[in-house]
Amino acid sequence: MDNPAAGPILRAMTTDCDVLIIGGGLNGPALALALAQGGLSVTVVDALAEAARVDEDFDGRAYALALASQRLLQATGVWPAVADKAQPILGIRASDGRVGAAPSPFFLDFAHGELEEGPMGFMLEDRHLRRAFLAAMAATPGITQISGETVVAQAAGPAGATVTLASGRVLSARLLVGCDGRASGTARRAGIGRTGWRYGQTALVCAIGHEKPHNGLAQQVFTPAGPLAILPLKGNRSAIVWSEREATARAIQALDDAGYLAALHERVGDYLGALTLEGKRFTYPLTLTLANSFVADRVALVGDAAHGVHPIAGQGLNLGLRDVGALAEVTIEAVRRGEDIGSLTVLDRYQVWRRFDSTLLALGMDTVNRLFSNDNPVLRAGRDLGLGLVNAMPGLRRRFIREAAGLSGDLPRLLQGRAI
Ligand SMILES: Cc1cc2nc3c(=O)[nH]c(=O)nc-3n(C[C@H](O)[C@H](O)[C@H](O)COP(=O)(O)OP(=O)(O)OC[C@H]3O[C@@H](n4cnc5c(N)ncnc54)[C@H](O)[C@@H]3O)c2cc1C
Repeated sequence: MDNPAAGPILRAMTTDCDVLIIGGGLNGPALALALAQGGLSVTVVDALAEAARVDEDFDGRAYALALASQRLLQATGVWPAVADKAQPILGIRASDGRVGAAPSPFFLDFAHGELEEGPMGFMLEDRHLRRAFLAAMAATPGITQISGETVVAQAAGPAGATVTLASGRVLSARLLVGCDGRASGTARRAGIGRTGWRYGQTALVCAIGHEKPHNGLAQQVFTPAGPLAILPLKGNRSAIVWSEREATARAIQALDDAGYLAALHERVGDYLGALTLEGKRFTYPLTLTLANSFVADRVALVGDAAHGVHPIAGQGLNLGLRDVGALAEVTIEAVRRGEDIGSLTVLDRYQVWRRFDSTLLALGMDTVNRLFSNDNPVLRAGRDLGLGLVNAMPGLRRRFIREAAGLSGDLPRLLQGRAI
């Protein structure tokens, strides 16, 4: 990634900060907080202007945060600012469905009482999480935020790395972290390629108000065109992530609000009563994109920059926060041992910890999407049987519940709610 346009390649030991994070969306701020609380100096650069990043408008996006992710937010001090705005997920139901038809009698049903640790997770609106991250960063010594500046070049040297901003300003750090999303320029400039494909599906995303309470139940209905998630928000409101084939999604998005709601009502059914739209409607083309390496010399990738996955189980941000916990732990321990935090020896520990796990999960969700997004009668009978079997087997049910809560696997300390 040595690029003469990227400023001087560092050979001396002085840098502007320890870690420079490119991207201040969601994973970037979480990592900045974890590292700064561990005593490192961090700069976060985001292309969006400050005003756009603190916009209070409800844009309909919300996240299903697994219990382990909530613990990371608690451990980094963000949770108290959002706790009263988060809706606990008290149950999960997954079933096969068809537009206008009664739901399949075979389903998978989990109740929060089956998990001794508490609710499986929380639904939180994007606007609340984003603002809480920005406020927490502003209140944390050791973090410098630069908004409205785009990174256009980067270079690595023996003692550090430099980035050049579009304004011409050059910044240096011992480690660069790409939290710059699915089209990560940090990865591209470091020579890291990507593997992936399109799903031929588009997610229609919005928030709805409804007449009847949701009782904290998160529903996933697998229709032949793609999964429909109905996720509980505070009050009588839910977040909708509704996957359709691209052409159908275009046609639905082009409907007026009444037509859109009627199409949605047909798929949701009557259990929530009358529906209204809360805020704007969005569409996201669905793709899988995996970075071929999560690290390069003086560079690490975190969150969607490393793995952009299908939203089928609402796991994208949860995976990213696992990266945050792992990279923060590896980096802070390396500082304590007196190691160079940008060296490949240190960064490989992060890659070994996270790459296999996230690739497996990304491909797992890909398989579930392929298995369920069709109307093949043989596959339909097989998956109905599968759902019914898992539902009836306590050992398997427990594994699924712990997986949904993000409690399985080799958990970084922050995701266990412990300090590094
Ligand atoms: C429809 C849908 C529903 C989802 N639902 C869930 C869910 O329920 N639960 C869940 O866990 N996940 C969910 N996800 C996934 C989640 O939205 C993403 O995983 C998460 O937003 C990724 O955050 P990030 O910080 O890695 O990247 P982003 O949020 O994409 O942030 C990247 C940031 O980098 C900045 N940037 C980019 N390039 C540059 C540059 N050159 N210079 C400076 N700044 C730059 C951008 O301005 C941006 O702010 C969903 C995704 C979709 C599409």
